[in-house]
This record gives sequence, structure tokens and C-alpha cells, in this order.
Amino acid sequence: MTRCAIGVDIGTTSTKAVAFVASGRNRGKTLGQHAVEYPLLTPVVGAAEQDPEAIHAAVLAAVRGTLVAAKLKPRDVLCVSFSAAMHSLIAVDAQDEPLTASITWADNRAAPWARSLKEDHDGHAIYRRTGTPIHPMSPLVKLMWLRETRPDIWKRARRFIGIKEFVTQRLCGRYVVDHSIASATGLFNLVELDWDAGALQVAGIDASRLSTPVPTTHRLKLVDAQRARSLGLDRDTPIIIGANDGVLSNLGVGAIKRGSVALTIGTSGAIRTVVHTPQTDPEGRTFCYALTDRHWVVGGPVNNGGIVLRWVRDEFAAAETETAKRLGIDPYEVLTHIASRVPAGSGGLLFHPYLAGERAPLWNPDLRGSFFGLAMHHRKEHMIRAVLEGVLMNLHTILPALEALTGRTQVIKATGGFARSPMWRQMLADVFDRDVVVPESIESSCFGAAMLGLYALGELESLDDVAKLVGATHRHRPDAASAAVYERLAPIFTALPRQLVEQYAAITAFQQDG
Ligand code: ADP
Repeated sequence: MTRCAIGVDIGTTSTKAVAFVASGRNRGKTLGQHAVEYPLLTPVVGAAEQDPEAIHAAVLAAVRGTLVAAKLKPRDVLCVSFSAAMHSLIAVDAQDEPLTASITWADNRAAPWARSLKEDHDGHAIYRRTGTPIHPMSPLVKLMWLRETRPDIWKRARRFIGIKEFVTQRLCGRYVVDHSIASATGLFNLVELDWDAGALQVAGIDASRLSTPVPTTHRLKLVDAQRARSLGLDRDTPIIIGANDGVLSNLGVGAIKRGSVALTIGTSGAIRTVVHTPQTDPEGRTFCYALTDRHWVVGGPVNNGGIVLRWVRDEFAAAETETAKRLGIDPYEVLTHIASRVPAGSGGLLFHPYLAGERAPLWNPDLRGSFFGLAMHHRKEHMIRAVLEGVLMNLHTILPALEALTGRTQVIKATGGFARSPMWRQMLADVFDRDVVVPESIESSCFGAAMLGLYALGELESLDDVAKLVGATHRHRPDAASAAVYERLAPIFTALPRQLVEQYAAITAFQQDG
């Protein structure tokens, strides 16, 4: 009989569940998976919401679908363990009914409150205690916004929770929040491992309106047989509360040891590493979120990842897209091929990729994109290459904040859509001047959740063992000559946006005026 651990990842576009072999020679191999999508709702400008009931239903369907896909019986399931997107906020009433949608990390309506928390309150001190950068994504900032703009909901709200608490309360009947999701609320004191009195005061609530914090290895029980049936499980199946999707992705790609950094570029991007005590950055560049009470993930998320190349494809590459169609290949392959015709450094052309404002390292929604250094010798290929380089150079500016805590990075574990391109992967090795490894394609947050579940049950001795279960598909070593070019350009790239803060604000104000 093959026993499995199921990792469930409650994401922004879908919930995915994956069953992994729990023990033996094949430990970690995928047995089956199922994903259920749902929409991101934007009823008004700046909103990015989801229906919590739809997500609850998706979780049930994803677990049931996984059991079917993997041909598993309920008794084969050792545990179900949860990953979830960070920063969501739902107000619920005394009858546990939602009064708001699930307001996601992408919702921007609290932006003015983020500014006021930075300027009028001691936002930086709150960040240093809670690990969550002051940003409209943060539930702390969203609470300030909700209190002022929706007093009706504020009055009726018994509690404020995140999407994972919504789902686990429905299944297990208790309002608990893992330290990992809590550490991304802006309300949780990383040292005390409890709600932060100062942050609660700014939010205007007391701790009784939040869930009880518990370690990420905390075990829950399904409320009754009916709940168990809705998941297709036995009633005594252990439910492990798990952690957030970012930190579990580090675990899932095997990047939890000193010197190992996880970098992902999909639509957006992130770079993260693990330290053993909570750490924040004096310059406010990085977040710090819990994986376990002895593993803390520090890093930076960026808005401008692959979305920038998508913009180039859609706005400037009609001819290349046509060519790709004719050849039956992906237009991105044509674009990266064109970029490979010019050498590292794009002939001294820099691209700041801030089309969507930026989070780490500058945390400024007013940043805007630009080409710098354009000259008559630059052609289209230089511009495309500069875009690819700019996305990486921006992520590279976060590395010093991580290395100040961990020492020199030895290896970068790279994931996300960009890793389909051999050229972009090699460029990563060159810009960072570090070895790059692409882990086997797995749902890393689901895998991390399942492995954390086994660890919680005592079935896995150490989280360090997870790295051995993750194979590699590609490896790249930095090319010394290209790395030297990027090293020369990096100070220019880093200095420019720091000198243009006023001008970014002015141009953004101009754009917003219509
Ligand atoms: P998401 O974050 O939405 O899950 P993906 O991880 O699939 O997205 O990443 C999508 C991005 O990856 C695209 O916007 C594009 O920039 C990049 N990408 C996808 N395929 C390729 C490719 N063959 N070459 C270069 N870049 C690619």
C-alpha cells in the first residue's frame, strides 16, 4: 500500500492539491493532482477580491479530485497540509458569515493608508517588529482602510481573518492561524510569536478579533464525518495547518540551507532565503516570514517579472509573434533568440523594469520604467536584451540585503516561466555571478506543504532532508566575462531610481490626472 501526504495550495488563480508518496524509496514522487480555478474579481478600480465560499468549494473539489487522480483510498492519506497565498483579509460576523470578499494581496485600495502609516506613524518600527513591509497588500494597512471607509462592516465584524483561516474554520471548527500566515499580516510580533500590541493599536482592534496563532506544524481535526466526506477523507485524517505559499516554495525547491537562495520569475517574481531567527532589514528592503519557529524566510517580492517580457511581446513584437506562429514555436523563444544576438550589457543600454511600480527593494508604487543610455547604435535586439537583463538586475539589487544576513550565496534555485528559456537562465547566472540550478518541475508550494505535514507527524526527521528529494533539470555556471560586464553596470542601475524619487512621483501624478 502506498501512503501519501497531500499538499493543498490555496493560490490567487486556483487551488491545487497534489498527493506525494510519503515514505520509502519513492518518497516525494507525485501520485496525482487536481486544480480548481476561480476568478479574481475587480468590481471597482484597485480592487482584487475573491469569493471565499468559491475557494472553500475549490479546496474540497481539489482534494477529492486528487484522490481520484492518484487512485487513492481515504486510509492511504497520512495527512493533508495547507499552503496559502499571503496577505488576504476577510471580515466575518458572529455567525461566521463573511461580510467582505477575500481581499487579496493584489488589492491596491489601501495605498493612501500605507503612505500615511509610513509618514505619520512609525511604520518602519512596525515593519521591524512584524516583518511585513508597509504596503497596501498588508492586512494591517487594509484594516486601517476598512475602518475608515466601511464603518458599517467594521461595526458588524466579529473577526478579521485570512483565506486559510476561513477554510480551516469551515473544516475544523476553530479560528487558528499559523505563525507563517500571521507573520505576513503586519500585525504579528516575530519575537514574541504573538499579535503585536502597537500594530493592533494602529489597526484599532484587540487580539480577540483575530485568530489564535499556532505553529505551522499544528495538527487540527475535522469537525465531523460530513466534513470528512466533503473532502473524500476519513474523519481522523490529520490536518496540518501548514504555512504560506512563499516560504513553502523555498522548502519545496530545497532552498532552506545557508547559502541557498530561491528565485522565481513568473508573471511577478521573488527572491528568498532562510535564516534561523527572525531578521528584518534596517533599510526596509526585505520581508521576514515564518516557515517554522526555527526557519524564517527573508526576501523580496517584485511586481516586474515576466510580465515585462509579455508587455514587449504584446506591444512591440507583432512581426516576431507572426514568425513564431509560422514556425510553430513560442513567441518568447523568438524574442530571447533575437536578444542573444547582442552581447551581455546590451551595448550599455539599461532598462528599469518598473512598469507596475515596484515592491522590493524600493517599495514605491510610483516607480516607472525607463531605458537609460540609448544611443544611435542601439537596435531592437539591444532593447529586448536590456529588458531581460533589467528584470534580473532589479532582483539582483535585493541580494545584498539577504547576504548581509546569510553570507555569500552559493547556489540559486530558479523556478517560474522564465526558466523555460536557456538564455534567460544563463543570464541569471551571469548577472548574479552565482551557480544556478533549476529544480525538477513540481508544484513547489504543494510539495513544501506535504513535506511540512510529514515533518509535523514525525515521519520526516528534518526539513533539511527535503532538498535531497528534489532533482535538478538544468545547471548553469556564470561566464566570467559576462559577469564582469554586469558588475560594471550594476552600480549605475542601482543608483538611478534612488535619485529620481521626486520625478517618479511627478510623472505618476501626471499619469493619474488622466
Ligand atoms: P505565472 O506567474 O502567471 O504562473 P509563469 O510562471 O508561467 O506565470 O510565467 C510566465 C512568464 O514566463 C511569461 O510572462 C514570460 O515572461 C516568461 N516565459 C514563459 N515562457 C518563456 C520562454 N519560453 N522564454 C522566455 N520567457 C518565458
